[in-house]
Amino acid sequence: MQGKADLHLHTKHSDGSLSTQELVERAKEAGLSIISITDHDNVAAVDEAIAVGKTLGVEVIAGVELSASIGDRDIHILGYFVDHRNGTLLEHLEFFRQERFKRAERIIEKLNDLDVPLTIQSVLEQAGIGAVGRPHIANALLEEGLTETYHEAFSRYLGYGKPAYEKKYQVSPQAAIELLSSAGGVSFIAHPGNNIDDTVLLELINAGVDGIEVIHPSHSPERVAYYSGIVGEYFLLASGGSDFHGGKRNDYDTLGKYYVPESQVAVIRHRL
Ligand code: AMP
Ligand code: ZN
Ligand code: FE
Ligand code: FE
Repeated sequence: MQGKADLHLHTKHSDGSLSTQELVERAKEAGLSIISITDHDNVAAVDEAIAVGKTLGVEVIAGVELSASIGDRDIHILGYFVDHRNGTLLEHLEFFRQERFKRAERIIEKLNDLDVPLTIQSVLEQAGIGAVGRPHIANALLEEGLTETYHEAFSRYLGYGKPAYEKKYQVSPQAAIELLSSAGGVSFIAHPGNNIDDTVLLELINAGVDGIEVIHPSHSPERVAYYSGIVGEYFLLASGGSDFHGGKRNDYDTLGKYYVPESQVAVIRHRL
């Protein structure tokens, strides 16, 4: 039987709840033979993951998840096989993380204006070593008893169009794709089923993405079939994974269930 590859995982270096070591161990237990850790704007987990993977017999591919914008739309782009020591890449990621921090401060200001007394300290406690994002702010709101649930934090304050919503630093998809390519990597449209219509999908294909994340927990079998068709039609690559964040969201049982066969990774590697 072919091994399983999960190419979309998060650690504490972004908004996941597991350490790098814990995540690789869990991946092994879940029967995965190849993984890619794709932290938001961060490649800090890659070296340790490779080392732990070696001891457990799990191959680790360097990865990262970038955010880009088309208008108001937040689009995620996955990069694989990047040189995670590439200076230009590291400088850009550092800049994106700083911008994430400034955005968190702006969100806190908005919350305070709404008489929600959240502090940046409690958000940074949630973020720890990770690139700070709205999930950390949602966790902090929950922890401080300022919302009843994690989801309420988004539906009431943090989600798109809600009163404490703040945009991220705006990067075009082209710029994100070029950055990944300049670091020797390939780029994939992440979870297009979430918020990408056909027009935007075509725009991203024209912008030069190498592939589409076909397998994702948010994709129905019909979506998977649809994106597989697009991949074939445009000679793109297909990837997939669980987008596992450590099991504390609705993802406690997703590890090992969303994957592509090892042979698919060989096809991606061949395109480099
Ligand atoms: P950020 O990168 O800081 O914009 O945070 C984006 C992450 O927040 C996404 O990957 C989701 O995990 C989460 N998120 C965004 N919108 C919502 C929502 N409406 N409900 C729950 N989680 C959300
Ligand atoms: Zn995430
Ligand atoms: Fe994403
Ligand atoms: Fe993700």
